Amino acid sequence: MYANQLDTPAPLDQHPLEWRESPTPEPGPGQLLIEVAGCGVCRSNLHTIEGDWVDGGVPAISPIVPGHEVTGRVSALGEGVTGFAVGDPVGVQPLWWTCEKCEFCTSGREHLCHERLITGEHVDGGYGEFMLSHAAHTYHVPDNLDLVDAAPLFCPGITGYGAIAKLDLGPGKRVGVFGLGGVGHLALQFAVLTGADVIAVARSADHLDVARELGARELVDASVVDPGEELEDSLDAAVTFAPSDEVTAQALRALKWGGTLVSGVPLNVEGFHFNKEQTIKASILGPRSAMREVLRLASEGKIRTVVDRYAMSDAETALELLAAGRLRSRAVLANE
Ligand SMILES: [Zn+2]
Ligand SMILES: [Zn+2]
Repeated sequence: MYANQLDTPAPLDQHPLEWRESPTPEPGPGQLLIEVAGCGVCRSNLHTIEGDWVDGGVPAISPIVPGHEVTGRVSALGEGVTGFAVGDPVGVQPLWWTCEKCEFCTSGREHLCHERLITGEHVDGGYGEFMLSHAAHTYHVPDNLDLVDAAPLFCPGITGYGAIAKLDLGPGKRVGVFGLGGVGHLALQFAVLTGADVIAVARSADHLDVARELGARELVDASVVDPGEELEDSLDAAVTFAPSDEVTAQALRALKWGGTLVSGVPLNVEGFHFNKEQTIKASILGPRSAMREVLRLASEGKIRTVVDRYAMSDAETALELLAAGRLRSRAVLANE
């Protein structure tokens, strides 16, 4: 098989990824071999590849194949695997394995398991022709979904779903979605499904066009106005997926007193006024039950991904565009 392997993290302009041949792995007990159809290109991949997370032990192995929003077809079954057959359309999210024993794993919050292994960070991921998965963390992809288009459901999809699920939304509520890239465009659709009025905030005209198509009630072009000033004290809730302290500050200003901000990115908060009684929550990924709900909603046509396809061997191009903020929505690397 061929895969994009990373030996040593380095800035993209030093070409740290190499498209090279390596042995196709064999599935161990409880594992599946997946012939990859598509793998989304996530900002987390960029952090892994460029070495931003080396101090946190990521990547955990060398070489490693990045990529954690993966779809494909089952190619081989390891010992003891049931519920899957060769040829089944399947997907894998960033949560590659969890311990199944800790307080988080036994309370439906397995994404917080401290022993969790993350796809493409601790084990090889989907930037190649094949990858291994754990059957317990492999999902059937509904037959009516295109496998390449479905790949982003497995990270932006579950991330957006998890963020919106942390809010109490419904008809008559106003929610702002700040940042409309890969995650934002899916979070926006989950917010629309609650019946709330969704206000899309972004700097890119392309992103705002997509937001309108996906059901945003109002659009705020942050390259023209200050969204904090424009929306001041008007939102019941806000979600942010733009890794920018400026955007966090704008979202907090836009929130009503008593409102809730959910952040899906690292954030620093300055001057947080307790007298407004606002709430800040963080959100990352979600458990298997949430992932299955995302797939059901996609299968019923209630949410969809907006995807630009790149050849699997050309990961670097997609990553460069992501780094430059020039992607329309989600890039997916596809095997022909
Ligand atoms: Zn991701
Ligand atoms: Zn656990």
